[in-house]
Amino acid sequence: MPMDFLYKGARVIDPVNAVDEIRDIAVHNGIFARPDELVEPTIVNVSGKVLCPGFTDVHVHLRDPGQLHKETLETGTDAAAAGGFTSILAMPNTIPPMDTPERIAELMQRAVSAPVRVYQSACLTKGRDGLEMSDLEALAKAGVPAFSDDGSTPQQAGLMRQIMEKAATLNIPVIDHCEDKSLSAGGVMHAGECAKRLGFKGQPRSAEELIVARDIMLAAETGCRLHLQHLSSKGSVAMLRSAKAMGIPVSGEATPHHLLLTDKAVENFGPNAKMAPPLREEEDRQALIEAICDGTISMIATDHAPHTQQEKAKGMENAPFGIVGIEVAIPLCLTELYGKDLITLQKLVSLFTAGPRELLKLPLGAMNYGERADMTLLDLEQDFAVNTLDFLSKGRNCPYHGWSCKGKAYSILNGIYNSSF
Ligand SMILES: [Zn+2]
Repeated sequence: MPMDFLYKGARVIDPVNAVDEIRDIAVHNGIFARPDELVEPTIVNVSGKVLCPGFTDVHVHLRDPGQLHKETLETGTDAAAAGGFTSILAMPNTIPPMDTPERIAELMQRAVSAPVRVYQSACLTKGRDGLEMSDLEALAKAGVPAFSDDGSTPQQAGLMRQIMEKAATLNIPVIDHCEDKSLSAGGVMHAGECAKRLGFKGQPRSAEELIVARDIMLAAETGCRLHLQHLSSKGSVAMLRSAKAMGIPVSGEATPHHLLLTDKAVENFGPNAKMAPPLREEEDRQALIEAICDGTISMIATDHAPHTQQEKAKGMENAPFGIVGIEVAIPLCLTELYGKDLITLQKLVSLFTAGPRELLKLPLGAMNYGERADMTLLDLEQDFAVNTLDFLSKGRNCPYHGWSCKGKAYSILNGIYNSSF
């Protein structure tokens, strides 16, 4: 198999270097090189396409181990590769949860043969029960780049402070699913007009915002790097913005669904629009779009959360929270954000590359001589109708079936999996 490639004629977008131009890219043994260093390279014509650093998704549920009927390491990483991602961070709410070095090591060992790079986060608390801190030091030694109890967060501020003090000494970020269960309990969608009309119990914005406020304060006191997952409310965005202005070490992410949809989607899509935190109102959506454009929110992450159709068929009140999205995030964002002139292409690429990679302290994806050549190739012109039956993920639970998109990931080029060549 040839090891050297010359990708010719692509529009290269490299946000770290503020590059947006047509140029050839040479890759020697998986590393960016000069064209004259290549040995009998395979010439690949990629004119008309956009070559970017490899896209990274820091919020993926592989359901492995424990819920292999929903997803597996294999199907989840195949879906990630097909969706245009070269690296993912897996969430630790597996069964059993990822709260010991042995479980982390076992997953990482199996992930060596995956088509994308898999990073595994570890639980904040033992058993992910929110009651007692995990052995964060041992988990750090096992190589995890982040700690999280995603799906929930410790409800006791004292415990969270203890965790953040420890994580600060290890210089590993705490990734936070902001939800005060005493306020969200029983709610199946956003508490607003729509929930009233449909007769469902809602979750107020304060369920998210109280924890956002609490943990920003704790980050300020402890110096712990704090990352706020899947922000949904305008109040959370405002707090993140002012915390960053104060120099508090906090970052935030937005999901494609919170950027594209509001609580009205529940009327059409029912449980396929049920997730935590819930879709909120248009003013929240607008605040999130403003935040990805002005840098307040530095990454888009999918919160890819597969469930079976039987589970999602249980109706709004009984179906589990979450939707899949890793195979459609790029087409949807290209179409609905870039395609509608809400964001520049360079900024959008940055939200999928440098932003998430900075969180995990990975190389930011600069396409520089000598760096690892991990790339995503986009086709901006391709018309693409979402068909959930085509997903490589086992999950079909999302509201996008039949949506028309313009633009998608054409392939990833990461030396492991070159899907189109
Ligand atoms: Zn979550």
